[in-house]
Amino acid sequence: MQKKQSKECAKCHHKTERILDFKDCAFTTDKLYFLNWRDACPKCGHDDFLSIGEQYMTNDPNEMIIPESIVFRWLENDKLEFTPQSDDIEFKFYKTTQIVSWIDRPETTDFKKSVLMTTLCLKLEDMVYYEEDKKDIEELVQALKRRKELLKSIGYLDTSTEELVTGFVGEF
Ligand SMILES: [Zn+2]
Repeated sequence: MQKKQSKECAKCHHKTERILDFKDCAFTTDKLYFLNWRDACPKCGHDDFLSIGEQYMTNDPNEMIIPESIVFRWLENDKLEFTPQSDDIEFKFYKTTQIVSWIDRPETTDFKKSVLMTTLCLKLEDMVYYEEDKKDIEELVQALKRRKELLKSIGYLDTSTEELVTGFVGEF
């Protein structure tokens, strides 16, 4: 999987692009992570940028799946993050069974388990909002019910999300 990074010089507005393998720029601590891209503008030498962004090289969601070898590195190391402070959203579009299998791995850290439990809560909120298949919603609710102890470890949920989840699984 590849990503295209692009930035625009704040002085001369020259646009620079580069295409990278996801494995080389996946985490915020990677030298090639888009927010760490600090090379001076090749045209005018200025080193302040109007914008720095990145996007996948495809629009097909099936091709935007993060390779599991990279997910495993993330699961086992609290210092690795895909996005500053919002990794819970990163996995919202993955299947419930997939997320649950990562939560249940013994190698997954407690912190990453709580991040993925938050993901399940956000996913439930989306599924209800978009009126998705009742069977799929029930599967997710059961997964949450079976892991109530982990639900308690979630640091923060929006009040509306917390109320919705409580309505489905009871107090936690
Ligand atoms: Zn420039």
